[in-house]
Amino acid sequence: MCGIIGYIGERDVISVLIQGLKRVEYRGYDSAGIALFGPGGLLIKKDKGKVAHLEESVNGQQIESSAGIGHTRWATHGEPNAVNAHPHTDDKNFIVLAHNGIIENYMALREELRQSGHEFTTETDTETVAHLIAEVYDGDLLEAVRRALKLVQGTYGLVVMCADKPDEIVAARLSSPLIIGHGDGENFVASDLAAFVQFTRNVTYMEDGEVALITKNKIVHKTLADKVVPKKIEKISFDIEHIEKGGYSHFMLKEITEQPRTIGDSMRGRLLSEEGTVRLGGMREKEEQFLGAKRAVFVACGTSWHAALVGEYLFEEMAGLPVEVEYASEFRYRSPVLDDKTIVFAISQSGETTDTLAAIQEAKRRVDTVFGICNVVGSSIARTTDAGVYLHAGPEIGVASTKAFTSQIVVLAMLALNLGRHRQISAAEGHRFIKELREIPRKVGTILSQSEKIEEIARQYKDHRNFLYLGRGVNFPVALEGALKLKEISYIHAEGYPAAEMKHGPIALIDDEMPVVFIAIQDGTYEKVLSNIAEVRARRGHVIAIATEGDKDIAKCVDHVFYVPETHPMLSPLLTVIPLQLLAYHVAVMRGCNVDMPRNLAKSVTVE
Ligand code: GLU
Repeated sequence: MCGIIGYIGERDVISVLIQGLKRVEYRGYDSAGIALFGPGGLLIKKDKGKVAHLEESVNGQQIESSAGIGHTRWATHGEPNAVNAHPHTDDKNFIVLAHNGIIENYMALREELRQSGHEFTTETDTETVAHLIAEVYDGDLLEAVRRALKLVQGTYGLVVMCADKPDEIVAARLSSPLIIGHGDGENFVASDLAAFVQFTRNVTYMEDGEVALITKNKIVHKTLADKVVPKKIEKISFDIEHIEKGGYSHFMLKEITEQPRTIGDSMRGRLLSEEGTVRLGGMREKEEQFLGAKRAVFVACGTSWHAALVGEYLFEEMAGLPVEVEYASEFRYRSPVLDDKTIVFAISQSGETTDTLAAIQEAKRRVDTVFGICNVVGSSIARTTDAGVYLHAGPEIGVASTKAFTSQIVVLAMLALNLGRHRQISAAEGHRFIKELREIPRKVGTILSQSEKIEEIARQYKDHRNFLYLGRGVNFPVALEGALKLKEISYIHAEGYPAAEMKHGPIALIDDEMPVVFIAIQDGTYEKVLSNIAEVRARRGHVIAIATEGDKDIAKCVDHVFYVPETHPMLSPLLTVIPLQLLAYHVAVMRGCNVDMPRNLAKSVTVE
């Protein structure tokens, strides 16, 4: 995780760094810091807490400076305090650097460096690298970084400066994203384009195993083995409004509210109503492998893993294709059985999730083609997979994923339709499915317009300490997602289960203190869900039901009901998840939690 920015040029360095850090703060926010070349040499300002706190402490300071680096941390090694905050230096204050990732062999390196006289001041793994670079430095910063990194095991996105070289920043990447922004007489480096997009949209991506020398007027990309890497500058289109709150109190609320548009954007230009199928440009080159598959494996983490589970139901129901959904973190360390008729899909919002990237590498050792489903254009997953589909949901800043989840389902539904049409679905059926899909944005809009009903339910239950979420069929993963949203941002303990599993254990928890959220829409499992509701009520549990519009009866057997419009049963997760996102949001706000930056979490999980 963690956000990095580096700048070299004529602008006010402090303000470029602080603005940039604010844009990447979603990646980590337990401490923040900057380092720059002031008139008297290297200057470091860092503290625990958010970037706003750092900003206050540098406010109004006019320091002439040629270059600087900044970091917002998601601690892995050492408490999040001022000392452990990045940037870090060696004991002579000669090398200064900011790091994203984990140095796995830091203990051994530290011991060796200690023996040659280095003194350490922090508990971080990162500090070791500053000492190591200082140790091998011989007048050439790029060379020193390259040599030091050969001794390092682990992952890194690194930006490095050196007291000797006020006009250089060196960057290095292994498993943690870094993107370089090319300006006119100025250059940028950051973990996310958002950090500098207001200054330039001309970028080059760093790849794993690469280092870069960045000066005001020149950028040199090399491999760790010292080979120059020619790069093509890419022009990125990016709407700056997407990374502003635009009047909403939180990014999360903005992103929930945006869903009619983002769901529409995910399908725009891709639906072929007449033929009852879809056209997915990114799949074209590997279409044969996709359509000829006998089995699929979806690898993902967190919310994307829940979307993958919805995808499993979609693929099996619509295309009759067996699917297995794997946690990327487990898949990567197993010996997965894959053959040439198995296709693998990696699903991730950011396209930078470390475990998912590693799962792709593992899959590539065994199959020819790995497909990607991600949101961030040009991300590592987009670049390492052979084909795939972008979500086009726009930047998601709120740490709790919302709009990416619904867009992932839209993409999986389109893929399932595509495959289904090839295998078993008639054009007429495909046509009907597309008609329903097109209606989803409007239906999501009607749910959002009733947000205050959810707010009312939130008010009544905000002080409860446990929640259960239950659903069946394609809405079972929605129950998991609803529970995840609540625990992520409100810190209330919540569990999701397939409704029928309740009686195999969780039912023991039910008493008059336990709210149970049921997804009880009128599909093939409706009657069974009603029985599960009765079982909860018989034990005095409180039931909040998400039900199908027009279902008057359910109101008689639950405490609260929230209606969603009717749709194709396989598309219902796109509607049923919306009230659950809103419920989590309102509960968290009422409990005074920081919704966009929940404690201990960070977006874009770039550590194992
Ligand atoms: N491992 C480093 C630390 O704990 C970097 C963490 C990060 O990526 O923010 O400081």
